[in-house]
Amino acid sequence: MTHTAPAAVRSVAIAGSGVAALAAAIRLASHGVAVDVFEQQPGLPALGSGITLQGNLLRALDELGVWDEARSLGYPFDGLTLRAPGPGAPIVAELPDVQTGGPDYPAGMGMYRPDLARILAERAEAAGASLHFDAEVTGLAQDDDGVDLEVNGAPAGRFDLLIGADGLHSTVRGLIGIDTSPERTGMGIWRAFVPRPAEVVRTELYYGGPVYIAGYTPTGEDSMYAILVERAQDRSAVGDDEAHRIMIEESQAYDGPWNAIRESLAAGGARVNYTWFTSHLVDAPWNRGRVVIIGDAAHSCPPTIAQGAAQAVEDALVLTELLTGAEALDQGLWDAFHERRLPRARAVVEASVQLGRWQLEGNREADPGPLIFGIAQQMAVPA
Ligand SMILES: Cc1cc2nc3c(=O)[nH]c(=O)nc-3n(C[C@H](O)[C@H](O)[C@H](O)COP(=O)(O)OP(=O)(O)OC[C@H]3O[C@@H](n4cnc5c(N)ncnc54)[C@H](O)[C@@H]3O)c2cc1C
Repeated sequence: MTHTAPAAVRSVAIAGSGVAALAAAIRLASHGVAVDVFEQQPGLPALGSGITLQGNLLRALDELGVWDEARSLGYPFDGLTLRAPGPGAPIVAELPDVQTGGPDYPAGMGMYRPDLARILAERAEAAGASLHFDAEVTGLAQDDDGVDLEVNGAPAGRFDLLIGADGLHSTVRGLIGIDTSPERTGMGIWRAFVPRPAEVVRTELYYGGPVYIAGYTPTGEDSMYAILVERAQDRSAVGDDEAHRIMIEESQAYDGPWNAIRESLAAGGARVNYTWFTSHLVDAPWNRGRVVIIGDAAHSCPPTIAQGAAQAVEDALVLTELLTGAEALDQGLWDAFHERRLPRARAVVEASVQLGRWQLEGNREADPGPLIFGIAQQMAVPA
């Protein structure tokens, strides 16, 4: 249903078309705000890897009207299995997950990233948002009443607000003079999108052995993604065949479902990619006048508790809840936004970084359980 927009934001431009951007677009357009989404890529990602959506993100998808469709495509599960390297992949622990979205949603769900992107984009367009591709936000000028946007070097209109949801290397962040940017944490991750062996029904992680973490998460009846987290290296020159070979070699210590994963990798054709972990947190304020950054533009962390996308979407939902409920775009609104978002994003970034650091240091005294459980309980309280 379309609601009437308050006079404070009648038109909003959004840079980026990731989860943060599309969540904001859906909420604003559904309230009758004119929304233009500018994405530098030629289209939505057609290929990609998997993603783990925690319960608090699943609840957010429901608020956005896409939960049923997402659930029909993804692979919901509860609990987390920890295994050790060596013959038989011995199970070390079966941990119950906190249902961070409340009792109505599973603790987590694996999903193919391009499916999530498509569902959100379709919902945004159905709500009335206009999506523009091949449209890179390159400049802006603002005064008390609005923001003049530049896209691909040319004027692209005047808006009441610009939301910079343009990811890790955000252009908008730079354009408003914020110089905090992502720093590498020292870990790198291989991800392979492969067929799901029937025995894989939830996320399973292996600690110990030649890499920091080996694991996999089901993303659908026939698919899952497998990960190997290693000390970060320059892998930029590694081609597909070599990437398969490295993942096969680095996973030799892991038995169980890893045997099937190695077979899939050896058969070739599995999509494999490599990414460095980063972290950063922009201190308040995330806005300068009528321009605000959200999602990875404002904070990033290693996916050690898989909360990055959840936090990005929570940023979007809190911001748009305030925007659609306010009479004016004033300091009170920005204060409320930062009060609700900063402590939560900070807790996730700090815990995620800490978990990675313990592993980098080889700290055997560390007890990650209480830290992970504490964050999950915090996330279970709606943003
Ligand atoms: C290896 C890895 C694994 C992860 N796993 C998980 C996980 O399992 N669960 C989880 O919750 N999170 C995970 N994350 C984190 C999650 O992917 C991010 O937090 C989330 O995707 C951020 O969404 P976003 O919308 O803020 O940014 P993005 O998804 O990065 O979207 C930004 C968009 O902006 C566009 N853009 C950039 N500059 C411009 C410009 N100037 N003009 C126009 N468009 C522009 C980009 O092309 C891009 O489409 C993981 C991250 C990594 C690195």
